[in-house]
Amino acid sequence: DDVISSDEEDDGIDKVENSKLDENTTFDQLGMHPQIIEACVRMGFKKPTEIQRESIPHAIAGRDIIGLAQTGSGKTAAFAIPILQQLLQSPQPLFALILSPTRELAFQISQQFEALGAVIGVKCGVLVGGMDVMQQAMVLARKPHIIVGTPGRVMYHLENTKGFHLKALKFLVMDEADRLLSMDFEEEINKILKVIPKNRNTYLFSATMTSKVAKLQKASLVNPIKVQVASTKY
Ligand code: ADP
Ligand code: MG
Repeated sequence: DDVISSDEEDDGIDKVENSKLDENTTFDQLGMHPQIIEACVRMGFKKPTEIQRESIPHAIAGRDIIGLAQTGSGKTAAFAIPILQQLLQSPQPLFALILSPTRELAFQISQQFEALGAVIGVKCGVLVGGMDVMQQAMVLARKPHIIVGTPGRVMYHLENTKGFHLKALKFLVMDEADRLLSMDFEEEINKILKVIPKNRNTYLFSATMTSKVAKLQKASLVNPIKVQVASTKY
């Protein structure tokens, strides 16, 4: 897929520019709740990575986020931290849906949510292909706060599992959006977008910005802020 370079913009999207935050920034300068900071410390996170420090304050302030940064830059916690913080403030089941291109990544994301959210008792459910549908339906019956899944299996449960809906969803995350689209999940994603509330927040994270990602972004984010981290430093 064609990669849109960072110079090729004026795309009309707000960008993080002239940030006053540097590598000495601490978690509590980002407006994070003490219990979430404690969870980060327990995981051995000493300070936020660049994508985390530039996106978390905007996410906590209620913005939709486009996060562009290469693999290994800490994108999972960049979206998990603001979601957990807002869950802590107003707990409810089926609070967030995280879409992942692969099973393995879905389990990793769920583990990261459980580690960061252990202190607040977060419950996660993983819905991925190749695994028992009835067992997943039982997980859904326990009303998890966070659903992590691949688009096909999430849509399967929305269509077939009695009582499961996402009508009160507060957050949608599309992780590895470039891979979600190169793996042909566009149709399922569009179906999911039709059955979740419009007044949710949406975070789109990707290693690259392609024209397909830009199209998905236009269809699903409202007045987002773009946070792009140079591949050489984070
Ligand atoms: P990405 O999604 O950008 O590829 P991950 O979210 O998978 O990156 O994070 C890569 C690794 O960095 C993980 O092992 C994660 O636990 C670790 N990590 C994330 N944030 C921090 C941090 N602030 N300090 C130290 N390690 C971190
Ligand atoms: Mg990732």
